[in-house]
Amino acid sequence: MNIHHRSTEFDVIVVGGSYAGLSAATQLARARRRVLVIDTGQRRNRYARHSHGFLGQDGREAAAIAADGRAQLLSYPTVQWREGMAARAARLDDGFRITLNDGRDAGAQALVLATGVVDELPALPGLAERWGASVFHCPYCHGYELMAGRIGVLAVGPLSMHHALMLPDWGQVTLFLNGAFDPDQEQLAALAARGVAIERTAVARIVGHATVELADGRALEMAGLFVMSRTHSASPLAEQLGCAMEEGPTGLFVRTDAAKATSVAGVFACGDAARAAGNVALAVADGALAGVAAHRLTIFGAPAA
Ligand SMILES: Cc1cc2nc3c(=O)[nH]c(=O)nc-3n(C[C@H](O)[C@H](O)[C@H](O)COP(=O)(O)OP(=O)(O)OC[C@H]3O[C@@H](n4cnc5c(N)ncnc54)[C@H](O)[C@@H]3O)c2cc1C
Repeated sequence: MNIHHRSTEFDVIVVGGSYAGLSAATQLARARRRVLVIDTGQRRNRYARHSHGFLGQDGREAAAIAADGRAQLLSYPTVQWREGMAARAARLDDGFRITLNDGRDAGAQALVLATGVVDELPALPGLAERWGASVFHCPYCHGYELMAGRIGVLAVGPLSMHHALMLPDWGQVTLFLNGAFDPDQEQLAALAARGVAIERTAVARIVGHATVELADGRALEMAGLFVMSRTHSASPLAEQLGCAMEEGPTGLFVRTDAAKATSVAGVFACGDAARAAGNVALAVADGALAGVAAHRLTIFGAPAA
């Protein structure tokens, strides 16, 4: 058992102060641990006004859910919050040191990485401006509000078959292939079985609410559009520390075990940063696991490798 006094000023540093990080930090605060949260305030869903599907908070403003979590967390006296970007992470003999990009630094026995992901959209005029308003990636988050209307799926590759075959549960679907892939006979049959219309003409731009303007001048009005983004880690810390990564369908994420421990002892990861596809409920659940696991590490030490 590992109970000697440590030189680091915090027990745990949580990088990322959104749903996953707030959830992890709350468990640690309730265990009376000295916690530092470092955050740049760039939640992934900041483009969407409302958040759906999180129990008890369905349809509430996404910012308000996070703000409540933060206010409740900061009522615990052992929690500190730093606005800023954690730029570097280094391993020490008895923990870790994080340096912010403004030069400030802090040390802790354990780290929780809750830094989320960044979405990269196809370079189609009019698309990025509508992200989170009428262009989405997650049917469960925003499909219902389209009121069973016309839905466009903008193909980025064969992976878009998944969107095209799911979304008929939320409305009448047109798959805009836009040269991204060419469905084979089996895929065409699956699309037909789900009643999906196929449009092969290239997409020129998105205008209005969610109107797809085609290269031949036609304009197809949609209630909403879905597109698969590529996702990237929002921070380089996991890679700097040497945490093993995993390739998901949309991009790399940090590999973790069932307790959200990474491959590096003392480093935990949670939320979108550490799963193939996430949402608010899963980020909060992962955060709770990571917070509890980080607390246990401060008592029992890291399990032998
Ligand atoms: C348009 C859109 C709409 C969505 N709608 C919904 C919805 O309705 N319902 C739902 O359940 N999910 C929704 N999601 C998914 C949801 O946003 C994510 O699953 C959720 O935000 C993940 O939480 P997180 O805490 O893991 O990461 P994030 O919320 O992305 O938070 C990561 C935090 O880490 C900070 N950070 C990153 N790097 C650093 C660093 N180096 N130093 C300091 N801070 C750092 C960021 O500033 C940010 O505050 C939506 C996503 C998008 C893109």
